[in-house]
Amino acid sequence: MKPKPIDAHSHLYFEEFEDDRQEVIESAREDLQKVVVPGVDYKSNRKAVDLSNDYSEFIVPNLGLHPTYKEAFDNVESIKSQIREANPAAIGEIGLDHHHVTREDERTRQRKAFKKMLELAEQLNKPVVVHSREAEKQAYELIQQYNIPKVFMHCFNGKPELAEEIIGSDTKIGVTTQILYSTRVQNIVGKLDIEDIVLETDSPFLYQGERNQPSNVLESAKKIADIKEISTEEVVSETTQNSMQVFDLEDM
Ligand SMILES: [Zn+2]
Repeated sequence: MKPKPIDAHSHLYFEEFEDDRQEVIESAREDLQKVVVPGVDYKSNRKAVDLSNDYSEFIVPNLGLHPTYKEAFDNVESIKSQIREANPAAIGEIGLDHHHVTREDERTRQRKAFKKMLELAEQLNKPVVVHSREAEKQAYELIQQYNIPKVFMHCFNGKPELAEEIIGSDTKIGVTTQILYSTRVQNIVGKLDIEDIVLETDSPFLYQGERNQPSNVLESAKKIADIKEISTEEVVSETTQNSMQVFDLEDM
């Protein structure tokens, strides 16, 4: 059987999918093995869980607190109990974003919320899905202060040298559909081994202004195969294994 890819990061509950969510998911089902859906705040965490109940085995929920959702910084405790109750595959997305959050007092609150989530991941022994925009190094340094089993650096756009430094059996780098058009991401992929890479869309975003969707990881796989001069099948089977590993999905 031909291996199918996994989209390790899609916000399928966003309103961009309001009109045709079911069709998008059905076509993803044809093309993909699984889609991982991360929440960004209390409300969307619920939606991620609902979707995973509607499409069990296919949609895998992550629950988190996104670093640009400032209102959620006051909601840490309720999100924590939500996560304990839902027992998701991973905690995310969580992290630091210095691009969108520029005020020092807000960055302090962001950092606090991130630390609370890392603390919880350590307690529950869960993998984390990390958003780190213009704060990649700071985010990674914080993660290292905790005993976290697996780390998925989602949509990594930091320095290629940093990517090389942090990868390992417990840390994977998310390559989004930016690979289709971003020379920065193409350079990062050039430096990494296929064992380090996880495919993701971050849909509905990151498809050159058009609405992105999970099945587009197939295009990324082709592009990575070109860059690495290996077959698309190899890209798919390796990155699928990497996703299963970072989310501990083997037993599901
Ligand atoms: Zn995201």
